[in-house]
Amino acid sequence: MLLSGRVQKIKPSPTLAIEAKAKALKARGVDIISFGAGEPDCDTPDNIKDAARKAIDAGFTKYCPVTGTPDLKAAIIEKFKTDNGLVYTPEEIIVSCGAKHSLYNLFQAVLGKGDELIVPAPYWVSYPDMALLADAKVRIVTTKERDGFKMTPAQLSKAIRKKTKAVVINSPSNPTGSAYTTEELRALAAICIERNILIIADDIYEKLVYDGFSATTIAATIPEAKNITVIVNGVSKAYAMTGWRIGYAAGPKEIIAAMGNIQSQSTSNPTSISLKAAAEALSGSQDSVKTMCGEFAQRRDYIVERLNTIKGVRCFKPQGAFYVFPNVKKLLGKTYGGILINTSAELAAYLLDTAQIATVPGEPFGAPGYLRLSYATSLANIKTGLDRLEQALK
Ligand SMILES: *Cc1c(COP(=O)(O)O)cnc(C)c1O
Repeated sequence: MLLSGRVQKIKPSPTLAIEAKAKALKARGVDIISFGAGEPDCDTPDNIKDAARKAIDAGFTKYCPVTGTPDLKAAIIEKFKTDNGLVYTPEEIIVSCGAKHSLYNLFQAVLGKGDELIVPAPYWVSYPDMALLADAKVRIVTTKERDGFKMTPAQLSKAIRKKTKAVVINSPSNPTGSAYTTEELRALAAICIERNILIIADDIYEKLVYDGFSATTIAATIPEAKNITVIVNGVSKAYAMTGWRIGYAAGPKEIIAAMGNIQSQSTSNPTSISLKAAAEALSGSQDSVKTMCGEFAQRRDYIVERLNTIKGVRCFKPQGAFYVFPNVKKLLGKTYGGILINTSAELAAYLLDTAQIATVPGEPFGAPGYLRLSYATSLANIKTGLDRLEQALK
């Protein structure tokens, strides 16, 4: 066999695959309404694009420091100070080719054979596979819908073993949109401090929160928490910059240095032009974030309310991100248009084939019986898509 044992343990990202299928059908002229998007539907704000143009014109097109330029690191440090009340030095910051890349480097830096990573489910699809690529084991903690899909302190305590090295906290969450309160995070942080477990805080949806909810980073809940947490964040979601590939991490300098070594032997610096664009995103006007949040809040209210009027569907109202994660268990085991549907994966396939709507089934998120619908698409699309969904389930 030509392939390594490591690579044979993983699969391609299922969410990217579904969105690619929807896009391919659309390109063939099929009238698809996609609830599959994992990115904002608006364009990157003009001030950010201008900063990139300026970088090109100024000839800022060569190799840069591996872990990020001083100006971008300064903007990130300022962001942590203002948004989170956390003080970091440049050695405690690394800029990578997307938050996903920061997470990958982090997993490679801290996880290895014999280590266990705690991942609350429903989880973002890449955590388990990234842990497998680092030869580590994953311990899934299944959260309850009635707990708002949040891991309780009791669940965390029970999941910890001798081999437990780290836990992932993603708040607001992809796929549920659920977000922890400061008090809930503080309780989890206290356990991690006591049991000496590294916290991996994926805060990528921090700024996309609604109804006055304010997302706290777990690193800021107790003074000692900062020392055992690596925060991963980025510009992809908050600034509609998914294609620019800039993410960053902040944490203990030994870990950040190790991530930097991995990066220096693999990608080197992220794209120079994107580094300049990201600095403008963080330090320039934040009006675009406000506008986007206003739009998302409206869509969330609409989609949750309508889903809850559909018989057999129950939808939790999330605090953040741009996803809803309706429970469709009552729809399963029934026949639609002559087709027996037993799983949420079969339901998603049926909806794509018959109703031309793309959704992501719960299975790859570790939560069968649910669908993930992204509302990063126009209200008009959402309305038409839900009409089709209703029709297809009659
Ligand atoms: C989108 C996403 C990321 C990755 O973002 P990039 O910066 O584009 O790599 C990481 N974590 C979660 C939960 C996400 O949804």
